Amino acid sequence: MIQVLDKSFEEFITRDEIDRKIQSLGKTLNETYAGKEVVFLAVLNGAFMFASDLMKEVDLDCEISFVKMSSYQGTKTTGQVQELIGLNTDIRNKHVIIIEDIVDTGHTVDKINSLLEDKGAESLSVCTLLYKPDAFKGQTPPQYVGFSIPNAFVVGYGLDYDEKGRNLDAIYQIREAN
Ligand code: 5GP
Repeated sequence: MIQVLDKSFEEFITRDEIDRKIQSLGKTLNETYAGKEVVFLAVLNGAFMFASDLMKEVDLDCEISFVKMSSYQGTKTTGQVQELIGLNTDIRNKHVIIIEDIVDTGHTVDKINSLLEDKGAESLSVCTLLYKPDAFKGQTPPQYVGFSIPNAFVVGYGLDYDEKGRNLDAIYQIREAN
């Protein structure tokens, strides 16, 4: 058991299990996208560790950009506006794979997809380490999933609890008794 701020967590997915899953995801991507032009878009902050380890298993001729969703207050009519920052590569006619730490409601991925829609990508898909199918309310479920997990809060391996715990090298699930 570990403590992050005021909450206790227990180990849920070990470092070893993560490593093996990432090897298998890398193999799937290498086979699926062989000979194609691929751009990976890793979504900060949570996906930094997953993206870094996944990229070591990928032997495609590819590019990687680190992007971030950012919200700002627009005009009275537009209200809160979200934009994707850090996309400094041309994705026209390329196969785009969004790398996420976790897909929960699917809202973030839907938003990113809608912001990329008119940029002429050949295809758009999502590779996520974790997926909570019971919480998902989005348009399309992620195509490449490491682990489907129950609807409980997790930290570690890039995922935070109030900005803490991202550096844990395994994934920990919140304890019921919290
Ligand atoms: P969405 O609901 O849009 O699919 O997920 C939005 C974001 O919520 C994720 O990228 C992640 O940052 C955060 N999130 C969702 N579930 C969890 C969780 O169990 N643990 C942590 N640390 N973050 C989560």
